[in-house]
Amino acid sequence: MHRLRHAKLVATLGPASSDAATIRALFEAGADVFRLNFSHGSHADHKARFDLIRATEREVGRPIGILADLQGPKLRVGKFAQGPVQLEEGAAFRLDLDVDLPGDACRVCMPHPEIFRALVEGTDLLLDDGRIRLKVERCSPTHADTRVIAGGPLSDRKGVNVPGVVLPLSALTDKDRADLDYALGLGVDWVALSFVQRAEDIVEIKRIVDGAAGIVAKLEKPSAIVSLEAIVRESDAIMVARGDLGVEMPPERVPSIQKRIVRACRKAGKPVIVATQMLESMVSAPVPTRAEASDVAAAIYDGADAVMLSAESAAGKYPLEAVRMMDRIIARTEIDPFYRDAIDAARSGPKANAADAIGSAVSQICAVMHVVATVAYTSSGYSALRLARERPQAPILGMTPRAATARRLALAWGVHAVLCDDVTNVSEMTDVACETARREGFGASGHTVVIAAGMPFGAAGTTNLLRIAQIS
Ligand code: PGA
Ligand code: MN
Repeated sequence: MHRLRHAKLVATLGPASSDAATIRALFEAGADVFRLNFSHGSHADHKARFDLIRATEREVGRPIGILADLQGPKLRVGKFAQGPVQLEEGAAFRLDLDVDLPGDACRVCMPHPEIFRALVEGTDLLLDDGRIRLKVERCSPTHADTRVIAGGPLSDRKGVNVPGVVLPLSALTDKDRADLDYALGLGVDWVALSFVQRAEDIVEIKRIVDGAAGIVAKLEKPSAIVSLEAIVRESDAIMVARGDLGVEMPPERVPSIQKRIVRACRKAGKPVIVATQMLESMVSAPVPTRAEASDVAAAIYDGADAVMLSAESAAGKYPLEAVRMMDRIIARTEIDPFYRDAIDAARSGPKANAADAIGSAVSQICAVMHVVATVAYTSSGYSALRLARERPQAPILGMTPRAATARRLALAWGVHAVLCDDVTNVSEMTDVACETARREGFGASGHTVVIAAGMPFGAAGTTNLLRIAQIS
């Protein structure tokens, strides 16, 4: 079994999607990578989901990626005594440090002492992705009295952004360090770091992770956009985190920044995920708006590796419908005759090395003759990613002896990862590739596959071989 599309689908798990049957159904509906959002839920919740994903993986016999998303220095309000409160425009509302006192319509806790010290009179605070705006009228090291400028419902643990102030926060909070330790202990494939501001943030987390997982930098701060190229260079993948990005920056800047990030990642050959609000209305409706369908398609036309669902699959009423819908939008967009033009328009040339030369040659062969699958023998995943960078028309079989690599490649554009034993010579390499393409449903007897590999076999970084073969 294989998917009939190149771009991947990341689905966040949460209260609406945590039982074995739902996780399995989400995978079958199209989820390639599951995201565990450490901003919500306990370690036990995440472990339960992790175990169920791995159980699903065993049942379906396909590698499934798991991404642990660390909250980062995200500010949030505390909890309310009796569900959501309504903040009315013009009303007074206080934020304080009283963790033990549940909130009401007059006040709530914001458990970040360092923020109160950085606030000044007149600072704007944006709550719940900018839906609510408060202006600070008076503040002290323990509380801030604000006026509601734009009101609305406010519920437990909603985010707070302070766009006008540079906050003295490090990229990994104590909670992130504990969560990271836990996630690595579980054996997640990807770790995402929120509110990255500079390349050094990535260097810092890389020292801790030490290759045990790929690092995803979430770009959601203006300063991250300033250092875009350096952050992409240090990261293994990037997330366009449009939720917070569109709060920290005016929303009208998000589309062009999104395109710029996707292009930079495609140029570097690093997987890029377009995230947040993609099918937002499906949190409470079984169909998306036309604008949402168009937004998903736009990311696909740009050649993004993956699109992501957050609340739609984690906490909405229609998690399965949301995944199915996203899957259909991707697949439908990719068969549009204009899709290839769009993908190629944002292409940048290969680097001057053997892996890229072979990758671009493989892609060129797919444009000239009918190829049912390209095959990359890859240990670390690097060769498969370099081939994916070329966005070949035919699917990419990522053949690897390492389960961790296969799972990580679940995020990469066009890559269908398959576990295989090490091959030792060219004829074995060819036979295994052809047999795998046939077995996985890509082609039949007489169909052409194109294989990229490195000799000597098993040594890293040796891509130097291109072979065109027919399935026997
Ligand atoms: P979040 O990140 O869902 O963890 O906030 C994504 C975003 O900000 O868009
Ligand atoms: Mn965010």
